[in-house]
Amino acid sequence: MTSDHGKKNTGRPLKPNAGDRATASPHDLGSMTWCDAQEWIGDDVWALLPIGSTEAHGPHLPLNTDVIISEGMARRAAEALEAEGIRALILPSLSFGVTDYARSFAGTLGIRPQTLRALLVDLVQALRGRGVSRLCLVNSHLEPEHVRVLRGLVGVHEGVTIVFPDKTRRRWVETLPDEFQRGACHAGAYETSLVLAERPELVRMTRAQSLEPLDIDLAKAMREGVTRFEDAGATQAYFGDPAHAHPDEGERVYQQLVNMIVVTIKESLSAKSSA
Ligand SMILES: [Zn+2]
Repeated sequence: MTSDHGKKNTGRPLKPNAGDRATASPHDLGSMTWCDAQEWIGDDVWALLPIGSTEAHGPHLPLNTDVIISEGMARRAAEALEAEGIRALILPSLSFGVTDYARSFAGTLGIRPQTLRALLVDLVQALRGRGVSRLCLVNSHLEPEHVRVLRGLVGVHEGVTIVFPDKTRRRWVETLPDEFQRGACHAGAYETSLVLAERPELVRMTRAQSLEPLDIDLAKAMREGVTRFEDAGATQAYFGDPAHAHPDEGERVYQQLVNMIVVTIKESLSAKSSA
């Protein structure tokens, strides 16, 4: 009998390798085996779902920028929650969202609001079936229709408590950098810094440094009925000032975003215990 590599199986057990030492992140469901998951999953665990989009983010950032940012938030939040004695499990990311504003740009792939909602409702049922009763939506894609679907899920569904730390709420906006507060929250220094802190190899920084700042309030343009980035003045699908992005700034902003998640989860827990 031979092994996969054609070597003789001597009957001795193979040496343990890195794969025998649990997973890369102890919180990451997708890299667990079912045996690991069985140990981890329980009624007290918070499932963190990173949510993003596949959408144009300027000529300098990858299409999955929002996914990368949500994953960076979820990983740091899981560690911060663990330090507070709260168990967290990071689910595989959702890489598609409602993305109409970037529809003119190559690579952008959106889904309908009802599809997003249906997928999340199914996922909630699946989690319940596995004995998970707490879900936190970790989102970085800020298009209004997309955010509306997520807000509509907050509460208790199928016995699962769902929370959504929403960075577009004034309470949290105030904790974020000026550029974000001015509504230039797409592919500018804010998002570029977050990607630099998480996946620097994916940022085309030479290109970013050649981009003129575009101080356009996208949030306001959206409220006024603009439905495409270029109609708001962003002909290259970026707003703000990507040239001034820095990984240290990204790390600083992650700490604010992690705080938003931890506070939201702790508020949900204390509301439950006082109910
Ligand atoms: Zn984005």
